[in-house]
Amino acid sequence: MRQCEICKHNLVDPVGRSNDIAIIFEDFTAETYGGQKIPEQFGYYLLRTEMGKLGVDIYQARVTSMWLHAPIKNFDDAQWNFQQAILEAMGTRFVLLLGSGATKFFLGKTATAISGIPMKSDLLGAEYVVGTLNPNSALAGCNGEVILGIQQFAKLVRERRNK
Ligand SMILES: [Zn+2]
Repeated sequence: MRQCEICKHNLVDPVGRSNDIAIIFEDFTAETYGGQKIPEQFGYYLLRTEMGKLGVDIYQARVTSMWLHAPIKNFDDAQWNFQQAILEAMGTRFVLLLGSGATKFFLGKTATAISGIPMKSDLLGAEYVVGTLNPNSALAGCNGEVILGIQQFAKLVRERRNK
């Protein structure tokens, strides 16, 4: 198992393989979500369902997190973790950010402020960066805004992917 280079915690590995789509949760660690692995979490299920309706297969996306272990208050550790997310998204054309922890870092805005709107990030080379709320969060999980945000992203992928 891979470990954090700073604090030596075991890491949750990203899932999925992709050349062009990256999905970055603000946090999806098993410690935070009752020991559930990523594909068992509600947010992943919601993504799979909503993207699937629009013909985009979640397995064609690399799914990762800002934090690969439970978040801790340590600047160097945060930097190392966030750097891993940037590396995972490197070379992708479409990036979906889930939760304000991710949208604030990559876009400087809260998830609510920019939900579903395609943007650019100085930290990511992607052509399209869309943010929305974290579907794993109890407050956002059954919220129409999060579903619309995911759908906007999936539409963008479907329409622009082969262009
Ligand atoms: Zn660490």
